[in-house]
Formats: sequence, C-alpha cells, structure tokens
Amino acid sequence: MSPTTPHWIDGARTAGVSTRTGDVFNPATGEVTKQVGLADQADVDLAVGSALKAAASWSESSLTTRTRILFDYRQLLHEHRDELAAIITDEHGKVLDDAAGEVQRGLEVVEFACGIPQLLKGEHSEQVSRGVDAYSVRQPLGVVAGITPFNFPVMVPMWMFPVAIASGNTFVLKPSERDPSASVRLAELFGEAGLPDGVLNVLHGDAFAVNALLDHPDVAAASFVGSTPIARHVYARGTAAGKRVQALGGAKNHMVVLPDADLDVAADAAVSAGYGSAGERCMAISVVVAVGDAADELVAKIAERTAGLTTGPGTDPASQMGPLVTGVHRDKVKSYVDGGEAAGATLVVDGRGHAPEGHENGFWLKPSLFDHVTPDMALYRDEIFGPVLVVVRVPTFEAAVELVNANPYGNGTAVYTGDGLAAREYQRRVHVGMVGINVPIPVPMAYYSFGGWKDSLFGDTHVHGAEGVRFYTRAKAVTARWPRQHGVDLGFPTHG
Ligand code: NAD
Repeated sequence: MSPTTPHWIDGARTAGVSTRTGDVFNPATGEVTKQVGLADQADVDLAVGSALKAAASWSESSLTTRTRILFDYRQLLHEHRDELAAIITDEHGKVLDDAAGEVQRGLEVVEFACGIPQLLKGEHSEQVSRGVDAYSVRQPLGVVAGITPFNFPVMVPMWMFPVAIASGNTFVLKPSERDPSASVRLAELFGEAGLPDGVLNVLHGDAFAVNALLDHPDVAAASFVGSTPIARHVYARGTAAGKRVQALGGAKNHMVVLPDADLDVAADAAVSAGYGSAGERCMAISVVVAVGDAADELVAKIAERTAGLTTGPGTDPASQMGPLVTGVHRDKVKSYVDGGEAAGATLVVDGRGHAPEGHENGFWLKPSLFDHVTPDMALYRDEIFGPVLVVVRVPTFEAAVELVNANPYGNGTAVYTGDGLAAREYQRRVHVGMVGINVPIPVPMAYYSFGGWKDSLFGDTHVHGAEGVRFYTRAKAVTARWPRQHGVDLGFPTHG
C-alpha cells in the first residue's frame, strides 16, 4: 500500500473524513508512489471551521508578531530549500535546480510580506474641516481560500498565503492533487516558525473541494491559479456566491524576434523559455514570432539547440528537462505533435519516442519544434503546456503586434531586438500583462504584481506585490471629530 499524503488542518497532519483518494505518481518512473485524500464536505467544513476560529485572534495579532513569525519562516524555508526541491521533483518531475529556483521565488514573497507594517500603512489627513481629521485603514477579510495548479507546487501557493496571512487573514489552501506533498511541508514549517494553529490549513481535493470552498458561507475570498476554463468557472461561481475572486488562467506566450536581434541570444532564450520545466510553465514561451528575413537562420539555431537538450530524471544532474507530470498529460501533449504535420506545419525536431534507460515507464516526451505554423492550427490556438515550441513567420513588426493582440491569452510576452524604440513601441502597444524586453520569462519580482490580461485573468487584481495586499484587505475610511460644542444641523456637511 502506498502512503497517503495527509491534509494539514488546525496545525496537525490528518487523514480527514473522506475515503476517496487519488494517485500521486513519480513522473520519472511512472509509479504510483502515494495516494492523496480527496476532501468531502465534512473535510471542507473542518478546514474552514479551523480557519474561521483562528481568524478571531489572528486578525487581532500585532504587526510585530506577524513580522517576527514571517522572518523566522523565511529562515526555515531557506534552510529547507533542498528538501522542498526534492519533494517537488519527486511528484512534479522537474529537474532539481529548477525546483530549487521555484522555492527561491516563493521565498521572495515571504520576504516581501515581512514588510507588512509598511505595506498596511494607511493615509491620514489632519484638519479636513475645523476639528475634523480623516484617515484610512486596510483590514483583513477573514478566511481566504487558495486553489493552485500542479506546475509550481511551492511557488504559486506562496504567491498567495504569505501575503494573505501577513495581512491578518487565515487561509485554506487547496493545492493540486497531482503534487500535494510540498504544501503540507510548507504549512508545517510555518507552524514551526510560530504561526498559530488554524491560520494556514491545507485541504487536498479535486473539483468537489474547490466548489465547496467557493460556495462556503464562511469563505470571504478566493485566489485561483490554473487553466483558463477552470479560472472562468471559479470566478463565476465564487463571485455569484458574493466573494472577492482573483482567477489567473492559462497562456500562450509569444516571443517576437525582430530582424535586428542577436539571433544566438534569441535562440538561447527561446529554447530555455520554451522547454524549461518541460514547457509546463504559465510563462513558458510557446510561440516564436520570427519577423522578416531572419526566420531561416533563427529556426536553424533553435533547432540545433533543441536537438542537443538532455531529457532525463529530474534527480540526475545531467538532465536539463524532466518528464511530464502524468501519463495522461504526456499523451495529450504528444497528440499535438502527432497532428502537427497533417495540419500543414513542418516538424523540425521530433521529440517522440524517447525513454531514458532504466526509466522506461516514465512520462517522457523530448522537445519538439514546429516551423511554418499558422494561427488557424491547433498547435497555435491551444495551450499545449508541454515541450512543443512553434514558430510563426510574419513579414513585419506591425503583423507581429497584430498577431499577439489577436490571441485570446495575454499572460506574458517578450520582444528580442537591439532597437530601443521598437522595444518601447512593442511594450506600449501589446495587450499582455507582463512584457520582457530581451528577457524571455518576465516574471515580476515579489514587490511587483504578477498577472495577465484577457483570458489569462478573471477579476481585476494581480497576485502579490501591492495588488496582493489590496486583494486581501478592505479599505475603511474614517472621519473623526472630538466636539466641544453641540447643536443640531440638518444641512449636508461641507468643509469650511
Ligand atoms: P487546472 O486548471 O486543471 O487545475 C488547477 C486547480 O483547479 C487544481 O487545484 C485543480 O484541483 C482544480 N480543478 C481542476 N478541475 C476543476 C474543476 N472542474 N472545477 C473546480 N476546480 C478544478 O490546472 P493545472 O493543470 O493544475 O495547471 C496548469 C494550468 O495552470 C495551465 O493552464 C497554466 O497556464 C496555468 N497556470 C497559470 C498561471 C498564471 O499565473 N496565470 C500560473 C501557473 C499555471
């Protein structure tokens, strides 16, 4: 019998009430290594009940107390970085270096949240009228739910809960059931840093748990990151239940390469950003837009680099790319490679048919590269979320901007050029939330906010940074007077 990853409720590992479970794989071997409990209503009620109880005292905790716990948590995360990376690689499959990078980017949100006293400062205006002062404060919402995808089992939850908790809320995290174990360890370490029981709970589950959290009357708000269809659903259902919702969706990120760009630099970037983490990144480059007459040379340079990549177990330091997360997902990604040529694209590098020795049953697919892809093809239209990079050729800068802006997604994009004016023009005109100028994966630092436009975001608030603090708090404006005189006045107050 494989072990079962527990929930983390009220400061303890617990098996929960539900007897439904799901398989957790080691993607490099294809073996089922664990089970994960899939919550039912009783489990949801326990997690939310614990968070609601904890909210009463946590919302009263001093900023000094919160900051001290966050600083200690930051230290523990730093000390346990390798352990967390190993848990990620074991269940997700990405190479260890990449997993450690993910832990680092999550840790940076904790560092940002350590500044919460500064971030929660309100405004104060003295003497807005005679003897009257006005000021604003931001207060926590109560219980917040976070629902996260499989591709960043540490970083994406940490986009959310450190900021929510620092702002005085309590949190129920529903991580991906594909790689559930890292979140339990994250919660346990927060407890070791002094976080009171119930402030952060981890509830494992599938669609049932998500919907139960969205419907739950004691949940005030939900942060979601995942695919676009589910993001749309979560936003609609959560807001219909009267909650504040931010729902980040999928992506199809274009890297525009202008003819004057250094093609070696651009090819390095396209390969790194296209196949890193096996393309299972919401900020992965999935479309290279080759502008003008540099396309042949650019494709040749990308092809050479792609064919030279080493795919293997994430635990092997020689591996540059690991397996895909599940066999089902690998088969879906492979079906795009299978159908690409029939649709009229040119398969330049074929990643099919690979299995490293000793790991024959893992979920393998090496990097594939397509050229001469057009916007009507499934290869272009769909978010494939795997190691498949496609090249679309366009004649001009204008055509490149038009292509990117016509795409329904708007998460990230990059432009490669040596022309500052062209880069500036691109950055200003493109309908995308995060733009890189000679940077292929422009993930904002923790003190900026992360989020896309169009079908990559439902709601109006990005995660972490200032927008994260705003999402997890509500504003209160106070007008105060300490009168010495009295007298009835039915007139509308004006402030002379
Ligand atoms: P997913 O949408 O399948 O799952 C995300 C979460 O939703 C999981 O916790 C899952 O249990 C839950 N869920 C799945 N089906 C559901 C349903 N029918 N009803 C309610 N909840 C449901 O996404 P995934 O496959 O885990 O992750 C990959 C996707 O996430 C990609 O589309 C990727 O682009 C996206 N992503 C986006 C960002 C971003 O910042 N925009 C970041 C990371 C990943």
